[in-house]
Amino acid sequence: MTKYVYSFGSGKAEGSSLMRNLLGGKGCELAEMTNLGIPVPPGFTVTTEAWAEYNRADRQLPDGLWEQVLEHLARLEATADLTLGDPRRPLLVSVRSGARVSMPGMMETVLNLGLNDQAVEGLAAWTGNERFAWDCYRRFITMFGNVVLRIRREAFDEHLDAVKARLGVKADTEIPAAELRKLVETYKEVVAERAGLAFPQDPGEQLRLAIVAVFDSWFAKKAVEYRRINGIPADWGTAVTVMQMVFGNLGETSGTGVGFTRDPGTGERRFYAEFLTNAQGEDVVAGIRTPEHIAALRERMPEVYDLLLEIAGRLERHYKDMQDIEFTVQEGALFLLQTRAGKRSAAARVRVAVDLVHESVIDRDTALMRVNPRDLQPVPIFDSAEKRAALAAGRLLARGLSAAPGAAVGEAVFDADRAVEWTKAGRRVILVRPETSPEDVAGMYAAEGILTATGGRTSHAAVVAVGMGKPCIVGAGDIVVDEERRAFTAGGRTVREGDIVSIDGGTGEVLLDAITTIPFRMEAAFHEFLSWADARRTLGVRANADTPEDARRAREFGAEGIGLVRTEHMFFARDRIAIVREMIMAPDPGARKAAVARLLPFQREDFIGIFRAMDGLPVTVRLLDPPLHEFLPKYTDLLEEYTRLDARGLGRERLEQTMAKVRSLQEANPMLGHRGCRLGITSPEIYGMQIRAIMEAACTVTEQGVHVEPEIMIPLTGTVGEMRVTHKQARDVAEGVIAEMGVPVRYLIGTMIEVPRAALIADQIAQHAEFFSFGTNDLTQLTFGYSRDDVAKFLPDYLQKGLLAHDPFSVLDQEGVGELVRIGIERGRRARPDLKVGICGEHGGEPSSVEFCHRVAMTYVSCSPFMIPIARLSAAQARIRAITASEGAAHA
Ligand code: PEP
Ligand code: MG
Repeated sequence: MTKYVYSFGSGKAEGSSLMRNLLGGKGCELAEMTNLGIPVPPGFTVTTEAWAEYNRADRQLPDGLWEQVLEHLARLEATADLTLGDPRRPLLVSVRSGARVSMPGMMETVLNLGLNDQAVEGLAAWTGNERFAWDCYRRFITMFGNVVLRIRREAFDEHLDAVKARLGVKADTEIPAAELRKLVETYKEVVAERAGLAFPQDPGEQLRLAIVAVFDSWFAKKAVEYRRINGIPADWGTAVTVMQMVFGNLGETSGTGVGFTRDPGTGERRFYAEFLTNAQGEDVVAGIRTPEHIAALRERMPEVYDLLLEIAGRLERHYKDMQDIEFTVQEGALFLLQTRAGKRSAAARVRVAVDLVHESVIDRDTALMRVNPRDLQPVPIFDSAEKRAALAAGRLLARGLSAAPGAAVGEAVFDADRAVEWTKAGRRVILVRPETSPEDVAGMYAAEGILTATGGRTSHAAVVAVGMGKPCIVGAGDIVVDEERRAFTAGGRTVREGDIVSIDGGTGEVLLDAITTIPFRMEAAFHEFLSWADARRTLGVRANADTPEDARRAREFGAEGIGLVRTEHMFFARDRIAIVREMIMAPDPGARKAAVARLLPFQREDFIGIFRAMDGLPVTVRLLDPPLHEFLPKYTDLLEEYTRLDARGLGRERLEQTMAKVRSLQEANPMLGHRGCRLGITSPEIYGMQIRAIMEAACTVTEQGVHVEPEIMIPLTGTVGEMRVTHKQARDVAEGVIAEMGVPVRYLIGTMIEVPRAALIADQIAQHAEFFSFGTNDLTQLTFGYSRDDVAKFLPDYLQKGLLAHDPFSVLDQEGVGELVRIGIERGRRARPDLKVGICGEHGGEPSSVEFCHRVAMTYVSCSPFMIPIARLSAAQARIRAITASEGAAHA
């Protein structure tokens, strides 16, 4: 018989930290804490394997499971010396979800289970606290009604709110026992009316239904959404932990809280926690009441506070990582209900890893492996002078709690769906909600930032925002959100949907109108951390940059060169496009040459700027790549203009000429058409000008003492003939310039590998090309046969149906496109063993793709400047993984 249930309690547990996959994060850590002698209420965990069986059997509990639950329940009753459903001394339990990775707030929990009409009286008599007993019962009916019977929470809450309004009280703790008793009657009517049944009185039945409901919460919309965003497999499922209730709502010496062993926003080493007196856990994480600072606990119950701190420290040392804990104080006695690696902001992730190395808790490799490379994506801040001015001008609307740092600007929207919709339409939004709720996760993901009126910094939704790296402010008590009217008011001012607001997630300030944001600056810990990554990696990291400014930024982020300058981006600049059009429209070769000559100084200046910015580092400049019609106006726009002129009887000759040219350049498949080196071969004067500009710039800066080694790159090569011809032209022009200027400059001529054929004949191409750079955007397009420009029409469907695991334009397809890359490198190096090989498609900053590039022994990856820190860490992780794997193999 499969063992589906594992007990913990009285200092002994059947499970441990090592059984995360089977017991879920919550279940395994409760077992671990029990074994460590930390005060944890007793209980048992139903495994994820039971969930898997349940899922396989069309949601039927597996044979034998219920018997095992009853057996472990009996053990729990013996440990607690209480009995479920006992009319005098009833055991109450919580039924909690727990997947193997934490999914804060995405699945369900039922508290106070075991109460019924008799047990509530028994609980009141036994504890001598009638108010408490009825408070538990009304909470239980609400949660059971909501989670198990699927009645909307509001159906209960509206009655609670009505009672509070009638009594003129704000907090639910102010409602007396007699009123709670009446409220329970009303709640039972709500259940009868909405679910069509009497509220279940049999505690065994309650337990069975609750376990099933927690199993089913794996399929809830918000859970599915969260899994999709975080790449969590659908078949992992959840465990269910049933544990004895300890009560934070037993009066003023009771309460509940959550805490982080370090500041989750900055990573600073200080205990960071929130506490609610006379409350149950759901009140904190659901963001219903705004919690007090932990200092309140220190003042009121100093011994409890000291013990909490001591346990928090012990847990951190045991797990060698920052912990996020949930705890309850029941009449002065402390209990831990959960511990897990704390979610934290990107900055905190790095800071904690670096500090733990300095504290000799972990080694550098462990620190490097702990940070998700994607966390290194820098978050912006506000221009401080501009913000000061905005504050002085009275633009501050409200202040809330800083939940996740970063500056965000956008149009206010008031529901998650609209946030998604507007973002899809290219708008930037700030999601404004009355409270933090995990239901909003898709909207939070879409939004630039999140703002809520109530809720604590450690509420689930806030924790999710931190994980997403979204600036987030919670508990901004001064704002009143009117969801109906899609507006909020603050200090007498109204912000309607679509109005622009700026939020500073670091300080909690909400301001009217936009404030300029400044990109992230790396702090000392960041530099130190990345220097460890650099020391570990063997793969180089370069940037794709088209301007001197991009180049400077790339260098700041740690780029070791430029892997791709897309020269066409320079052509699009306002002062050049007219000349580019003249060049294209030229009626004869002479006129074309003249236009090309006018472009030369612009290009030369661009290259001079870039070479200076990258002094001492290699710069790869790609010659013109896109089809020429991209530089001309759209035919439909011209036609519109033509019709307008025609109607007004004005001259149209020039327009007719342009239209004819545009028509003649039109192609059925421009991305497969007259572009790349095909253009260079048919119009050699364009490449000739570009090569001259590169070399003149190189000679000029060399004379000024700048060290430069340009790499001239031919795009879209597919045949050896193309390579031979363009290589010869490039060499002739380059040598000519060097001779003219009398300045010796070392340079290379190489090619992009982005046509599958080029990868297959890489050995022949490498006879001429002195370096390769894989253009995996085009290589993916041409390998899959998916047009880069049209893929969005079917890709979402493919992803949703599981026909593709990832978007191949963002995550390199290793078995198809990657195989061509591997072949290309191997054949290329067969002909030229010291061939420098890089990648410059968008994959160059994507962690799994970078790891692949390390494995196939590329020389470097090249990616956007903002991705550089990600690439640096990914490259280090790839090497550490490779070393660990080879050490593992050696031991085996
Ligand atoms: C590529 O194809 O991967 C590439 C870098 O070139 P582009 O995206 O400019 O076509
Ligand atoms: Mg390309």
